[in-house]
Amino acid sequence: MRAAVWHGRHDIRLEDVPEPSDPSGEEVVVEVVWCGICGTDLHEYVAGPIFIPPTLERVVLGHEFSARVVAVGDDVTRVKPGDRVVIIPHQVCRECAFCRRGMLQHCRNLQLVGLSLDGAFARYTVVRQDQLVHLPDAVSDEAGALVEPLAVTLRAMQLPGVRMADDAVVIGAGPIGLCAVATARACGIRNVYVVEKLPRRAALARELGAAEVIDPSSDDAGHAILDLTGGRGVDVALECVGLVATMNQAIELTRCGGLTVFIGIAEVAGGIDLNRAVTENKEIRGCIGYFDGEWQVVVDLLASGRLDPTPLVTHRIDVEDVVREGFKRLVEDKDSCVKVLVRP
Ligand SMILES: [Zn+2]
Ligand SMILES: [Zn+2]
Repeated sequence: MRAAVWHGRHDIRLEDVPEPSDPSGEEVVVEVVWCGICGTDLHEYVAGPIFIPPTLERVVLGHEFSARVVAVGDDVTRVKPGDRVVIIPHQVCRECAFCRRGMLQHCRNLQLVGLSLDGAFARYTVVRQDQLVHLPDAVSDEAGALVEPLAVTLRAMQLPGVRMADDAVVIGAGPIGLCAVATARACGIRNVYVVEKLPRRAALARELGAAEVIDPSSDDAGHAILDLTGGRGVDVALECVGLVATMNQAIELTRCGGLTVFIGIAEVAGGIDLNRAVTENKEIRGCIGYFDGEWQVVVDLLASGRLDPTPLVTHRIDVEDVVREGFKRLVEDKDSCVKVLVRP
């Protein structure tokens, strides 16, 4: 089968790899329906290896996918061939101190599908049954491929300071920022403001429920947020870019006593204005991955219709075009290219 295989920075090759067969134990072979290109994949292409282990010579990328079960091992009880599923890319031990607390992303023995294990830019891949969540009929395969980035943002919505928030600002309307807008609205945050300069992304943010989009190239975001919140600042600022400037902006836009959440990861994170957290009583915290059970919450929100992320999908391509059409376009055409889905 054809697969998009990472060999190193700027070196992703389309190769023929053997099809997996004869799953054993708790293994499940799935046929990929759609697999999204993630910002993480792009970083591995442009600047990797980052999450790919440095000793790994090659890996099939792709971790945001919906699939059908095609074959199961002898010990598989939860799914059967033909089932529609989405796949949690974390393969965990279920025994370490973090697994026992449901904090799967911090498993001490964590393996990542599409980064340390072969992933879903291929027709078939092998996973374990505890990674699978059933997709109900009401949720499309395309929406299924968006559960992963939505789950990343759902994690942020579970933080106590976010659950109580009336006003939030999302900084950066890339795929994660847009998922944050949709998830924040679905979770009941009344006013979600967005800071984004690219016009098509700003329009998508409005479509997904943003109350107001501030263009930082023409407006002062600080003044705009004070105007929108009666001079207070937002209860919670969600930083979804990963630059020091926007991290400081997130701290600035948070009200005194509010919460700043860093979802974006900075390549170099020096120069963050921590004094402002002290003098204005602000809490700053990071947020990554998802806890056990949160994928099911996202699937339920999709099935209920409260969450509809499908406007995010701007391109659908074949696996042959992952590099030429997918990665290059994401780098060069950030405004009109948001979520690219790959059909293996
Ligand atoms: Zn991802
Ligand atoms: Zn573990």
